Amino acid sequence: MRKGTGQSPTGRGALSAACLLGALWTSPNTLAGLLAGLAGMPMGARPRWSGRDFAWVFHHWPWGPGGAVTLGMVILHTGATLDVPCHTYEHRAGRCRHPRISLRDHERAHVFQYLVLGPLFLPVYLLCGGVSVRNPLERAADRYALRGRGWWPGR
Ligand SMILES: [Zn+2]
Repeated sequence: MRKGTGQSPTGRGALSAACLLGALWTSPNTLAGLLAGLAGMPMGARPRWSGRDFAWVFHHWPWGPGGAVTLGMVILHTGATLDVPCHTYEHRAGRCRHPRISLRDHERAHVFQYLVLGPLFLPVYLLCGGVSVRNPLERAADRYALRGRGWWPGR
């Protein structure tokens, strides 16, 4: 164990290997996201790698009702910054009162979920209810944005 880091070099290596495997596993989604982002560039979309979010973020993406959508390691966003407050799904559905969360944190949770589910993410997401408060993937992303942990459903 290296002094002061709290994590062994071996542990960090295992985490990096897991992230690399996840990146490969979800690469079909990432490719679709990159193509969608590139398609938006003539209309003003601008990409930036965000190490914090482990994703390419396309700002000013020209399509959609406003907000963000994540495809693999790509976040497509209609605005200028992901650092905007938004309501949780449960708050919007009137189930409870939550403080506002960061859209960036919510979408980052989806990136992590994609690293685990890879090409299964979209079928599982749709089977779980899609863009809805019923979807445990969305509630987990909200929980992660609220607490900084718990991006996987059921914890
Ligand atoms: Zn979401």
